Amino acid sequence: MPDPTQRHPENVHGQFYVDSEECIACTRCFEEASEFFRESEEDGSAFVHTQPKTADEIARAEEALDECPVEAIGQGESSIS
Ligand code: SF4
Repeated sequence: MPDPTQRHPENVHGQFYVDSEECIACTRCFEEASEFFRESEEDGSAFVHTQPKTADEIARAEEALDECPVEAIGQGESSIS
């Protein structure tokens, strides 16, 4: 379960985030949805570098969320940066 208080520090503000404590750096999200996710040079885990805006983009980011094997991608806590 992603925890918005454990957002990766490089995560840009917005509704999607990666919980840096949960991420196991499996590479899936940043290989399959590189327009939103990127590998951190600091710790190898993923973070959101660009928030999706359109409905199609949000659907793609939600696919990555669903496919994360450890549920490290969160959505909907946009008030916490
Ligand atoms: S899919 Fe999940 S575990 Fe894999 S790199 Fe992305 S956030 Fe980390």
